[in-house]
Amino acid sequence: MLIRGGTVIDPAQGLHATRDVRIADGRVGALGARLGRARGEEVVDARGLLVTPGLIDLHVHVFFGASHYGIEPDPHCLATGTTTVVDAGSAGALTFPAFRKYVIEVAATRILPFLNIGATGMLSAEVGELEELRFIDRTKALQSIEANRGLIRGVKVRLSRQQVGPNARVALLTARETAEAARLPLMVHVGDTPIPLDDILIELRAGDVLTHCFHGRPQGVLDEHGRVRAEARRAADRGVTFDVGHGVGSFSFAVARAALAQDLKPTTISSDLHVYNIHGPVFDLATTMSKFLALGLSLDEVVRMTTEAPARALDALGELGTLAPGAAADLTLLRLEEGTYEFVDTRGETMKAAARLVPVRVVRNGVARPAGLQQPRVPPTA
Ligand SMILES: [Zn+2]
Repeated sequence: MLIRGGTVIDPAQGLHATRDVRIADGRVGALGARLGRARGEEVVDARGLLVTPGLIDLHVHVFFGASHYGIEPDPHCLATGTTTVVDAGSAGALTFPAFRKYVIEVAATRILPFLNIGATGMLSAEVGELEELRFIDRTKALQSIEANRGLIRGVKVRLSRQQVGPNARVALLTARETAEAARLPLMVHVGDTPIPLDDILIELRAGDVLTHCFHGRPQGVLDEHGRVRAEARRAADRGVTFDVGHGVGSFSFAVARAALAQDLKPTTISSDLHVYNIHGPVFDLATTMSKFLALGLSLDEVVRMTTEAPARALDALGELGTLAPGAAADLTLLRLEEGTYEFVDTRGETMKAAARLVPVRVVRNGVARPAGLQQPRVPPTA
């Protein structure tokens, strides 16, 4: 396949230029200013489009049918331009075999799971996975990680009151120990935490992930005077990944604006896409990227935060997150549209924007498919 005439943005290579991209044998073959068409080669016309490494969404929920959050990955992730997703703890040790066999192995979307330290995973809206101490099980989690070595990419713990009840400290420490024993990153979900954010941040090391980093609830990255907390700054400086994880209750324009003004940028832009936000306010990863363009990040930064940066967080840069020759043949073609748009955060704040990113085509493992924004739910007509 030859993808011709697009503007290639590949921050991992410092590249932003018109390039043709050749795909061969499920890999990126070559990039060039003008590549001749080989015999029998499929040509994709990318003139007027941006061509990026396949977008990586570091936080979604795709354990459809088991987790109450679960969406189907292909119609909501791949079809909206995302080739790789991290499932952030939908499954725990007890439910992981079903997740692997019936979702991960049959999806066209590449799914790289983080295992929930709660052994059930995120099954119930009524009962949090960490409320029952007996489900906070390091041994079971480690057995599951060993049985799925190479597939499970990290350990997840959710520390909101609703999920953790009185067990925040034991859940955090158990997840910390498990991640360390497994030599994997730890992803911590914050927002409405029953313990101070500083107590969580000091547990995070380089490569660990703080998700929902710009939530608008108490114990966020800003202190009571609106200044970036010293402990948050220290965590960012030592290489903790600050992940957006927009979600249904976890992204505030006001917090993001204040953090950006103080030069605390997210490391990765992710959606936390799930059942309760695909019809708004999240819709898809591209819309979350557009929100950051509207907040003032550059196009190259926004692409880096959804390609190179999440690939690094997954220790997969080279295979993913770049269009360097030899990388997996995963690409996203987007159109940067100019017009008048309005975006909304999880606090109900709206923001006007003059541009948005629209996925138009996606290539996964060398196969091209159509892509688009998540369509708003159409109310039934009488
Ligand atoms: Zn989530």
